[in-house]
Amino acid sequence: MSAPKKKKLKSLPSLLGDAQKVFNKWIRLRDKDELCIACGQHHEDYDAGHYVPQGPSSFLRFHEMNCHKEGKSCNAFDKFHLVGYRKNLIKKIGLENVEWLEENRRTVKRWSRIELEEIIKKYKS
Ligand SMILES: [Zn+2]
Repeated sequence: MSAPKKKKLKSLPSLLGDAQKVFNKWIRLRDKDELCIACGQHHEDYDAGHYVPQGPSSFLRFHEMNCHKEGKSCNAFDKFHLVGYRKNLIKKIGLENVEWLEENRRTVKRWSRIELEEIIKKYKS
């Protein structure tokens, strides 16, 4: 008889990647009837674009107010895209919330395995 296969635990970085994928997909679905947050136009391809980039603020990485549907070209190639993003974001969630995001732009959070698994579960459904 063969021994039962041990379930291999996913590494933290790969969980983080999975969580981001599921979260981003959820954002695109939530905003499916909206236009690009940065330019207000329609695009062929969309990303889930973060207002505060994922690099400096790990805390806002999975924050629903910090992530909105954005045209791929605006998100990836327009270095001024955050100017329009901010303007439209204020319309969408209000200045107070935008300022709150900005205050937290350097807040660091270490995501635990359990938290990441919860994010995946929450946004998958
Ligand atoms: Zn755009």
